[in-house]
Amino acid sequence: MINFNIAPFTGKELAYVKQAIDNHKICGDGIFTKKCNAWLEERFHAQKVLLTTSGSAALDMAAMLCDLQPGDEVILPSYTFSSTANAFVLVGAKLVFVDIRPDTMNIDETKIEAAITEKTKVIVPVHYAGVSCEMDAIMDIAKRHHLKVVEDAVQGVMSTYKGRALGTIGDFGCYSFHESKNFSMGEGGALVINDARYNEAAEVLREKGTNRSMFFRGQVDKYTWVDFGDSYLPSDMNAAYLWAQLELADEINEDRLATWNKYYEAFKPLQEAGRIALPTVPDECVHNAHMFYIKCRDLEDRTLFISHMKNKDIQCVFHYIPLHSAPAGIKFGRFHGKEQYTTPESERLVRLPIYYHIEHQEAETVIHETLRYFNS
Ligand SMILES: *Cc1c(COP(=O)(O)O)cnc(C)c1O
Repeated sequence: MINFNIAPFTGKELAYVKQAIDNHKICGDGIFTKKCNAWLEERFHAQKVLLTTSGSAALDMAAMLCDLQPGDEVILPSYTFSSTANAFVLVGAKLVFVDIRPDTMNIDETKIEAAITEKTKVIVPVHYAGVSCEMDAIMDIAKRHHLKVVEDAVQGVMSTYKGRALGTIGDFGCYSFHESKNFSMGEGGALVINDARYNEAAEVLREKGTNRSMFFRGQVDKYTWVDFGDSYLPSDMNAAYLWAQLELADEINEDRLATWNKYYEAFKPLQEAGRIALPTVPDECVHNAHMFYIKCRDLEDRTLFISHMKNKDIQCVFHYIPLHSAPAGIKFGRFHGKEQYTTPESERLVRLPIYYHIEHQEAETVIHETLRYFNS
């Protein structure tokens, strides 16, 4: 059986988790949490990074920090995971879905401006497959209309746009370290804060509404409940697990990219023959090989392909029923403009197995069986 995904494991995780336990500091913001925050800040030139309990929690925090009023509108793609939308439903916002571009499956930046109303407050670009949205255009629209930008960069850890790390371009960025992502701590994530004016509010929100972080830094002499908050701190045991992977971040990234490039080269002839479409990575984007997908002719072709692969014990999956057609999407949002690509393109897309340390032979088997299906 060739799994679609196997969570990354470098070998040092157990030793670091044991160290966290031996430190007698297994709750949040221990030594390993601090090491991970600092590593992410340094590596990505981020103003401030705070580990959270999940990517969803990071999105929730970002939505709360945007300080929306009920009825305010948020622009996002419909082709995304439910968490992107849930965060803004939580704060009472109305979702306005915009079509995607077929080449990157990212929000179509040329369709955002027409969806803006006097209620619009936030744009949420989702960097699908770790390939950046057209951030210059999006930031320009946001600036001209005084909107905030929350980057759903949960798939984009280690990716860049014009040399800048995804997550560090908008007002806030959100990462995930779920076991299905490139770097994992089981369940976990991080919030990137790009405007220092939000540092304190984010710490308070993450620490049950208290100014505990400021107390520990000696900035206040007692800690107290200062605002609404919740608990978004992961255990230091989980952070210890992540630390083992951040230490080897380049190796993990290069290993994934090698598999991605191998697939791309092998399937190029199928694309040239017009049989499938391959992912597009625009020149200004460096990606992290978060996923490798191909696009079949249509839904029926995809169904046959997946079942061909399943018969060969190879797990291939698709995802995201577009949110605007899901029950909750209908309840909480609306689609703006003509929907040209979101549904038809999502129905063609299928993801192939890719993970850190996938064996050469396994990748070759995936290539062989894929070519066999599409060439027959
Ligand atoms: C995985 C994912 C999330 C959620 O991250 P969790 O850490 O599982 O909460 C949110 N948005 C997108 C686009 C994702 O792929």
